[in-house]
Amino acid sequence: MKTLDDYNFEDKKALIRVDFNVPLDGDFKVTDTSRIEAAKPTILKVLEDGGAAVLMSHLGRPKGKSNPDMSLSHICETVSEIIGVEVKFASDCVGKAADDAVADLEMGEILLLENLRFHDEEEAGDEAFSKALAKHGDIYVNDAFGTAHRAHASTTIVAKFFPGKKCFGYLLAKEIKAIEKVMRTGEKSITAILGGAKVSSKITIIENILDKVDNLIIGGGMTYTFIKAQGGKVGDSICEDDKMDLALDILKQAEAKGVQVYMPVDVLAADAFDNNAKTQFVDVNEIPEGWQGLDAGPKSLEIFKQVILNSKTILWNGPVGVFEMESFANGTIAIGNYIDEATQNGAFSLVGGGDSVAAVKQFGFEDKVSYVSTGGGAMLESLEGRTLPGIAAILD
Ligand code: AMP
Repeated sequence: MKTLDDYNFEDKKALIRVDFNVPLDGDFKVTDTSRIEAAKPTILKVLEDGGAAVLMSHLGRPKGKSNPDMSLSHICETVSEIIGVEVKFASDCVGKAADDAVADLEMGEILLLENLRFHDEEEAGDEAFSKALAKHGDIYVNDAFGTAHRAHASTTIVAKFFPGKKCFGYLLAKEIKAIEKVMRTGEKSITAILGGAKVSSKITIIENILDKVDNLIIGGGMTYTFIKAQGGKVGDSICEDDKMDLALDILKQAEAKGVQVYMPVDVLAADAFDNNAKTQFVDVNEIPEGWQGLDAGPKSLEIFKQVILNSKTILWNGPVGVFEMESFANGTIAIGNYIDEATQNGAFSLVGGGDSVAAVKQFGFEDKVSYVSTGGGAMLESLEGRTLPGIAAILD
């Protein structure tokens, strides 16, 4: 796997795909700089070698049209502050404006190109557009894990114009290593905690990880499809009736593969999907009509705790309750605390995919787990066992 350390960028222009799709407030100020911070080591390595960095990214969903609200010019100042070097800006990512800006770029300097998605060709993975982008650098570096599952021009197609001169940035390399540490080289026992709303969105992940893990903790809304399929009464809990056969099949597969499955035995049920609803702890198989399970109960958490503390490798995807409402956040916070303790005892813990990162950030677990993935969809697809096009294009 080629990374930045395999190259010396002296007198070279690095064309770097970063993920600067950051949130902006009404005054176009960046409200969360973590994606920019995450790209910093890669950019600094190029500059410290004596090279120049040409940065390209998308921002928002302009759908192929220029849109001043989504101009990357808004973030130039923030990037300059974070990297500590003044960032120049090109008013387009291809064509004369970009070509001239790249030609004027001196070693040690940084140039940020305008939003890639102002051109339809970016998401279409257009060859000619990719070639026009490729002109901007001597070496291509992909450091955008968040878009690595897309076969777009800047994330995938452009790589073919850099035979033998392309590599992963530090951030993308870290993401790949973290996933490998769980999916391929994880120390036993390996536990996956899967929560979230629906079984249907997690099926492929579950099927893929049954071959990799020793324990599977199922929590959150998807629990109830399994419980009802096994004959339990789930009241008004979220349930996908058409996925019950699949749920039973997953449990059978798990048994055949020797994977221990743990599900909640008790839940905090509410008489409405509301933070101020009436609540009671009930047996997971005996949820009364008119009530819905919205968080894991204390007996369940005790079981989950033992499993997590006995694990050496932990993957967490999806909350075990409706964590957005304070009344139902306890289970998700408890899981975070157990993972924190296990990590302090030497386990490797990876959190990522979909909403998990939001939960982790909300409750301040970011620094307590071994690794928080920066890519929602890309992480989910990796867990599903797919080879991401952006990664394949570098390995090619
Ligand atoms: P996902 O994106 O699939 O990981 O799902 C995350 C969502 O699942 C969060 O917004 C949670 O509020 C929701 N969720 C977790 N547990 C439950 C539950 N018991 N009932 C309904 N929604 C839930």
